[in-house]
Amino acid sequence: MVSARQVGKTFGTLEVLKGIDLTVEQGEVFCLIGPSGSGKSTFLRCINHLEKVDSGTLRVDGDLIGYRQEGHKLYELHERDIAVQRAQIGMVFQRFNLFSHMTALQNVCEAPVSVQRRPAAEVREEAVSLLQRVGLGNRINAYPHQLSGGQQQRVAIARALAMKPKLMLFDEPTSALDPELVGEVLDVMRQLAQAGMTMVVVTHEMRFAEEVADKVAFMDGGRVVECSAPSVLFRDPRQERTREFLARIL
Ligand code: ATP
Ligand code: MG
Repeated sequence: MVSARQVGKTFGTLEVLKGIDLTVEQGEVFCLIGPSGSGKSTFLRCINHLEKVDSGTLRVDGDLIGYRQEGHKLYELHERDIAVQRAQIGMVFQRFNLFSHMTALQNVCEAPVSVQRRPAAEVREEAVSLLQRVGLGNRINAYPHQLSGGQQQRVAIARALAMKPKLMLFDEPTSALDPELVGEVLDVMRQLAQAGMTMVVVTHEMRFAEEVADKVAFMDGGRVVECSAPSVLFRDPRQERTREFLARIL
């Protein structure tokens, strides 16, 4: 579903991604861990074309992200075509980014109606069932400020799912939450994983990664140092750097 080949990204003179190679299969949960500044968010943002890849190739479901290929030449896509690619990829951030003047239900309905131009009644029905799925069936008319952080993050997940994405990206979705609210968001993600959604998750929740991930990649200094099944990466890491990192945080 995601295939990165030698993906590079530079900000000015700072080389943030130094040739990322990784593959996420359909239906897999892929967790990215690593120290602050190692490039995890940047890589995630490249997948969603919030950042432009400078070198290498990044494909989602076979489609080259941000470029069109003719023979050996690559041409940058127009904003309109980028928007089409982006609509197929759901993203949930650390901060919930809900529209504060809209109810939970309106937040979930917004993009399918105004971007995808789907019929409002049909979208509303799906949105209600998505909000039920994330455990908020009784709060559909609440505004963000009337919801806890965990509830807002679950609305954000429902809002991303409303676009019927093929892939969901999560960037530290529980980092901004009070500890007692983390579990309810991880539960929704776990349920989504069980339903077969392909997910790339940047997280500091090592227990979640160990339990739910099919693969875990440890990034450091803009490179993937090690990528393996969680049972290997957490219990018997192959690289010294992975071992050091885990020793510091576990
Ligand atoms: P964290 O765990 O703190 O979220 P991260 O692994 O997600 O870290 P990134 O946010 O991807 O790291 O940042 C990698 C590096 O790129 C950092 O040194 C950061 O300062 C730099 N960086 C990120 N975005 C930009 C930008 N828009 N312009 C310049 N530098 C940037
Ligand atoms: Mg980050």
